[in-house]
Amino acid sequence: MKTIHQLFEEAVARHGDKALTVEPDGRRLSYAAVHELTERLAGTLIALGVRPGDRVAAKVEKLPEVIALYLATLRVGGIYLPLNTAYTGSELQYFVEDARPALFVCSPGEEQELAGRSPGGVSFASMGPHRTGTLFAQEDARPAPPVDVEPDAPAAILYTSGTTGRSKGAVLTHRNLASNCATLTEAWEYTHDDVLIHALPIFHIHGLFVAVNMSVTTGATMHFLPKFDPQAILDLMPGSTVLMGVPTFYTRLLRHPELTAERARSMRLFVSGSAPLTAETHHEWQARTGHAILERYGMTETGMMCSNPYRGERRAGTVGPALPGIDIRVVERGTNTQLPAGEVGSIQVSGPNVFREYWNKPEKTAEEFTGDGYFITGDLGVIGDDGYLSIVGRDKDLIISGGYNIYPKEIEELIDEHPSVRESAVVGVPHPDLGEVPIAVVVPEGAAPADPEEILEAVRPRLARFKQPRAVEFAAELPRNVMGKVQKAALRQDHAGLFQ
Ligand code: ATP
Ligand code: MG
Repeated sequence: MKTIHQLFEEAVARHGDKALTVEPDGRRLSYAAVHELTERLAGTLIALGVRPGDRVAAKVEKLPEVIALYLATLRVGGIYLPLNTAYTGSELQYFVEDARPALFVCSPGEEQELAGRSPGGVSFASMGPHRTGTLFAQEDARPAPPVDVEPDAPAAILYTSGTTGRSKGAVLTHRNLASNCATLTEAWEYTHDDVLIHALPIFHIHGLFVAVNMSVTTGATMHFLPKFDPQAILDLMPGSTVLMGVPTFYTRLLRHPELTAERARSMRLFVSGSAPLTAETHHEWQARTGHAILERYGMTETGMMCSNPYRGERRAGTVGPALPGIDIRVVERGTNTQLPAGEVGSIQVSGPNVFREYWNKPEKTAEEFTGDGYFITGDLGVIGDDGYLSIVGRDKDLIISGGYNIYPKEIEELIDEHPSVRESAVVGVPHPDLGEVPIAVVVPEGAAPADPEEILEAVRPRLARFKQPRAVEFAAELPRNVMGKVQKAALRQDHAGLFQ
């Protein structure tokens, strides 16, 4: 098995002069340049005391040089640990105390404050735009050769998005990364001819281990955007081939008048994941651009598990069949009895993509694996006769009212059809008789104030009594994290007092 950094070396040998990254100001970094920087930063890491198995934390801006830091960490046998740039003070303290990195790379000027919050034994270095920062100023560092790593040695610790609770550190091995990268590259026919519009953050599995790994191992070029910017994406589309995004990318691009089939003519693939893409968005996108968005399903702990086909039918509202070499099953909630096609249950997964363990959390790791070695994703879904998986929601968002199961998505889809609704989220709130009841938080479409009773009237005839929302609450927007995921725990908390 070849690791990601070995495959990168091979790509450098074939595509040395090609641009790996192009920034909005036109600055290009070639494969050879990123490789040279990787070798040098590997030397720097060693000079700073990083040894095989040590964690290198990175809370840095989205710069192409960060790719070299990531690859340099793998090269010296270290464990790369990217952190969300939005984290502040006490959140960072949790990650540093949990992961105990040997080196923490931050933005210039942040070292002191971070050092004050960190336990002993952590070194600090910084990395800013245009090679500013102390990491680039190490005089005594020499380019370092790669060390041998075991395929099952940890390559990275990635913290989950923290949608359902405190983020957990998922330990991913070189095999996890390399196998998932190879699987996706083949499934999506990704090659050195591709030009990817990269507008995702690079501290998360989607932007780092899907987008960056696939590019650096194939010789593709990435337009490296510091953040999601619809205008910048539309400007780059002619001349690009692939966009990887979260559903909010697509809904926001659809609101832009410049999105047309003509604009998307050179594009061959639009990928969506990390949160559910509505069938409505899928259809609207197809009507406007002529492209069917390819939706896939994955998580920090497992990489990508399911994908709609590159060739073949991409079905709206589904995440497609399991990827080759990966086994997905749907079992009865609470037991491990496998369910037949068409029945909703807990999604479990096994394969070379599945993480090793939660960092520092052996009990949590043990809880989330079944006796026969499947990882319990925490998502609910249903597999159709054709093998396509549809995600129904998260186990933790399931509402149990008077003993009946209610899947919020079913209700949300009906509410979203109402013309005065832009989007909605249904959550369960405590109720004295029924335990929990569903309520809907609705973002109205346009300025017209909607009437809660009118929305309820519209959905009632299509829902059994126990599924009917007991209240409609309006909100200007739904609380979302940076990956565009609706934070239902926050909504439950905000409305917890409605019936008691
Ligand atoms: P935490 O585990 O900390 O609560 P999280 O689960 O949001 O956060 P991630 O690993 O980033 O952290 O996200 C994985 C989850 O994202 C999946 O378990 C699933 O619920 C959701 N997800 C990913 N892709 C899709 C998709 N195509 N459709 C619906 N949900 C998706
Ligand atoms: Mg999760």
